[in-house]
Amino acid sequence: VAKRLEKFKTTIFTQMSMLAIKHGAINLGQGFPNFDGPDFVKEAAIQSIKEGKNQYARGYGVPDLNSAVAARFKKDSGLEVDPEKEVTVTSGCTEAIAATMLGLINPGDEVILFAPFYDSYEATLSMAGAKIKGITLRPPDFSLPIDELKSAVSKNTRAILLNTPHNPTGKMFTRDELNVIASLCIENDVLVFADEVYDKLAFEMEHISIASLPGMYERTVTMNSLGKTFSLTGWKIGWAIAPPHLTWGVRQAHSYLTFATSTPMQYASATALRTPDSYYEELKRDYSAKKAILVEGLKEAGFTVYPSSGTYFVVVDHTPFGLDNDIAFCEYLIKEVGVVAIPTSVFYLNPEEGKNIVRFTFCKDEDTLRSAVQRMKEKL
Ligand code: GLN
Repeated sequence: VAKRLEKFKTTIFTQMSMLAIKHGAINLGQGFPNFDGPDFVKEAAIQSIKEGKNQYARGYGVPDLNSAVAARFKKDSGLEVDPEKEVTVTSGCTEAIAATMLGLINPGDEVILFAPFYDSYEATLSMAGAKIKGITLRPPDFSLPIDELKSAVSKNTRAILLNTPHNPTGKMFTRDELNVIASLCIENDVLVFADEVYDKLAFEMEHISIASLPGMYERTVTMNSLGKTFSLTGWKIGWAIAPPHLTWGVRQAHSYLTFATSTPMQYASATALRTPDSYYEELKRDYSAKKAILVEGLKEAGFTVYPSSGTYFVVVDHTPFGLDNDIAFCEYLIKEVGVVAIPTSVFYLNPEEGKNIVRFTFCKDEDTLRSAVQRMKEKL
């Protein structure tokens, strides 16, 4: 394996999902729903295939989807973007992240990352040859350590990678925190790469796109996808929204990474994005009920549960159960209790910082969540 990838192992999500199958454990690890996406979106995909929309799509997205993305972004953020010049459709947000890094980062450029972070960030930054600087968000509230950020950002910083709502903690950056980040970026001419895939799962506060703050659109790439919002994580449809000078870099990388994304799924995704807002309200209602089952259950089982404002994840402190670290705890949980969680130490530059914390997901049907909670209450 190439040197730039040597330090990375099989992703923790794959490892844990394989263990779940091996031990017949209930999988509250990898974030994928165990229920299906909406029928009207699936029907739209079938229809598109039948209508013969099956050859290569336009590289940066089928016009219908670019327009639907722009219209949705306007509703959500108030920003009016040009679907032709400022929207690039990618194979999931993971590709948008990779294309953004590879298209806009030069080897040696400094990029700031908030730990714990979603694992693909570090790997794709490594592929781009970036110099990574980590800022750790700490429990219980994972708030932005403003002074640390101020001393980390300089004229040498090329970009800050921001994920809100935040995987794995469920933290959402507040307007005040985003203002701090924005003013540092403007002062030092820094870009922001914003991963907002959980924006529709904002329970405790309003989601704010940093691109909508004054002076920020011109320096921000906003990324999102269909997977979480429409419970279709296997479709791998994502996009990046950015002003033309940044879109150019993203598109250059995208052109040579995947060239284009699945044509019929793009048409169906356009249909999905045009759904009335009531869909999103219902989604949130459903997830609030699931979240309550998991959070209450984890508390009753004896965990210290950290508050989660958004995403379909919660993180907990597992130390009341006396295991050495997050990995040992997750192994015990799978083998002795029959439940899978995700250890978080792999999401830190310094794994020690995550050794007390594990992540559970509640994107599962209510019966599954209840069974998992029951097992933990009985066996932990
Ligand atoms: N984003 C999902 C999670 O955090 C799944 C990631 C993956 O499987 N690569 O669980």
